[in-house]
Amino acid sequence: MTKNGRQNKIYLLDVTNRDGVQTSRICLSKLQKTMINILLNKMGVAQSEFGFPVTRHEVNYLNANLELAAMGVISPLRLSGWLRATKEDVTTTFRNVPGIKSLNLSISTSDQMIMNKFKGKLDHVSVIREMTEATRLARELGAETIGVNAEDASRTRIEYLIEFSLAAKAAGADRIRYCDTLGCDTPFSIYERIHKLAEAVQLPMEIHCHNDLGMVVANSVAGAKAAVDAGVDTYINTCVNGMGERAGNADLVSCILAIRYGADMAGAYALDEKIDLKKAWKICKYASYAFGVSIPINQPGIGANAFAHESGIHADGALKDRRNYELYDFEELGRGEPEIIDTGRQITAGEYSGIKGFRNVYDKMEIVFHDDAEAARVLELVRYANVHNQKPLVEDELRFVAEYPEVARKIFTMTP
Ligand SMILES: [Zn+2]
Repeated sequence: MTKNGRQNKIYLLDVTNRDGVQTSRICLSKLQKTMINILLNKMGVAQSEFGFPVTRHEVNYLNANLELAAMGVISPLRLSGWLRATKEDVTTTFRNVPGIKSLNLSISTSDQMIMNKFKGKLDHVSVIREMTEATRLARELGAETIGVNAEDASRTRIEYLIEFSLAAKAAGADRIRYCDTLGCDTPFSIYERIHKLAEAVQLPMEIHCHNDLGMVVANSVAGAKAAVDAGVDTYINTCVNGMGERAGNADLVSCILAIRYGADMAGAYALDEKIDLKKAWKICKYASYAFGVSIPINQPGIGANAFAHESGIHADGALKDRRNYELYDFEELGRGEPEIIDTGRQITAGEYSGIKGFRNVYDKMEIVFHDDAEAARVLELVRYANVHNQKPLVEDELRFVAEYPEVARKIFTMTP
């Protein structure tokens, strides 16, 4: 309970469009990133770290997504940018993306990184100075929500981490992001550290974990529990299908399941009530297609085997009563609906499509154009969308281009 009697909550802050896309060997197009934001919004996730406002090729996409937010298409999902905690990055951010309201400012705090990454350019005192100056400037330039990220927090001396976080709070930060950048925490160590930090700082804690030791979801849930136990709200950083640098970030769906069904978590800790797990199947399938990374057969909740039973005793038990061998229901994850696959003639819309085939594709989706001119305009954009994605568009993408052609045009536009 908070001091005002409200129960502290666990929110989700998805970083697929930031940590997910900065992962080696995989990427998303700007249209695919937009679709992820739309799907996260439908799923009731609180915030999407939607990209890098300092990186030039992101700028049109970021501005276009903020337009979608203003139109109510992506709302109430909060769209936030990631940048380094420097005044230059803050200035560039507001020059490139003037309408941005939420930021996370990042700087390293461990002895290891201060000594061996900054190599004399910054020390413990100047790290705090850079961060507080950047935080104040971000507020001055219009940021409404500021998270300050302690990179490598898990290897940072706790006294320094508290000093750093109190300075961030004094400079106007709304949250502290505890980054287990190398994934070295265990559920026990992260619980103890976040409890100390949250108790001392009394700001909402973001929990950002990596899976290098295979404990990412356990660590994220333990960190969130510690924050709530210390009397603050918390935001678990997730990625769809556990994408993310190296061994990945915390899988979005697994975190929700762990909070809802984990022993001693269920009922005792409040997950953001806006979360609609029924959308899980769709977003996981879409992200898998967009990234070109298949879903492991044993992925919690979503894998092909998550509700499959074969051995005699298990199959018999599950058929008698699903609770014998299933912790939660497949319907809750949006599974169980038949999926129709067309096995006859198919007309697809691609980068070299003509108007007849294109209209056939949209007719099937029951989308009607006012006149030929409108159809021709959308066809031209769909060609670009195909060039942009380099793979067949899914129905939701085709619908998006037809519904928001001018926003789509902006998303596809990149001028090096
Ligand atoms: Zn990360």
